[in-house]
Amino acid sequence: MSDYPHSLLEFQQRFPDERACADYLIKTRWPDGFVCPACGSVKAWALETKAFTFECAGCHKQTSVTAGTIMHGSKLSLTVWFWAAYLMSSHSNGISALQLQKQLGLGSYKSAWFLVAKLRLAMVAPGRSPLKGLVEADETIFPCRGKDDPVAGGGGRSAQGKLLIAGAVEVRDGKPGRIRLIEIKDFSATSLHAFLADNLAKDATAKTDGWAAYPGAKDVKHEPHVVGPMAADIVLPWIHRVFANFKTWALGVYHGLRRAHIQTYLNEFVFRFNRRSNRHAGFATLLAIGLDHEPVTYNMLITPEAQA
Ligand SMILES: [Zn+2]
Repeated sequence: MSDYPHSLLEFQQRFPDERACADYLIKTRWPDGFVCPACGSVKAWALETKAFTFECAGCHKQTSVTAGTIMHGSKLSLTVWFWAAYLMSSHSNGISALQLQKQLGLGSYKSAWFLVAKLRLAMVAPGRSPLKGLVEADETIFPCRGKDDPVAGGGGRSAQGKLLIAGAVEVRDGKPGRIRLIEIKDFSATSLHAFLADNLAKDATAKTDGWAAYPGAKDVKHEPHVVGPMAADIVLPWIHRVFANFKTWALGVYHGLRRAHIQTYLNEFVFRFNRRSNRHAGFATLLAIGLDHEPVTYNMLITPEAQA
């Protein structure tokens, strides 16, 4: 997909109002013309009384362009959604809910937080392809914040603690390619093998620090480098740099992370890292995945179990 604005100016000119945003969504969602989600009919008319809504000529079901998507039922305007998607995807460090609330003049922190949290869910493409070739894999510990989040609410439940994160990065011609970061519950062989199986292609080669839990992962070739703890960043320079960048980002943008939402932040970091060479394309990807994503309620987002 190459149909996206390449600069802030282009973005402003292209999406000045609700109509422009809706047209973009309609074209992205139904590239070959409207298809009724209820009956599959392609005959429909646009309603004049309801914004950006089609009525099916077959079953008469009315479908708005955001129905059944991550934007479903949102009270925010499409232009706010577009600005948020643009700022989140194109800014090299992303943007926190608080920053977004101020930038877009949103009435409440809660609605800004909800908007950011929903877009973050659209940062994992369904069916994304696993990492290939030579892949550095390692694990790290990240301290998590126990302070109450003003909105997420699970106040006091998570005491000051530690998050365990497994990471992997493709290495092509000595340079980093795509990455994955996943929260794991422990550093056991079961957890680490599951991480490799889920994120590496069958013929990939995992390069690790030789931690005893790595060898034996099914279908993954293994290249262990047994080293002392001080030297791991020399053997696995790229994954260590990724971990360091993630920590700097989490502290700088979010002032630390809370356990309840850790995977969504990891996903956001991965999304931006994997699109670092073309951030503007990330905007189109984000909206496209969002259109494909089922509706999300506030409760689904604030309940950690909903992240599973
Ligand atoms: Zn229909």
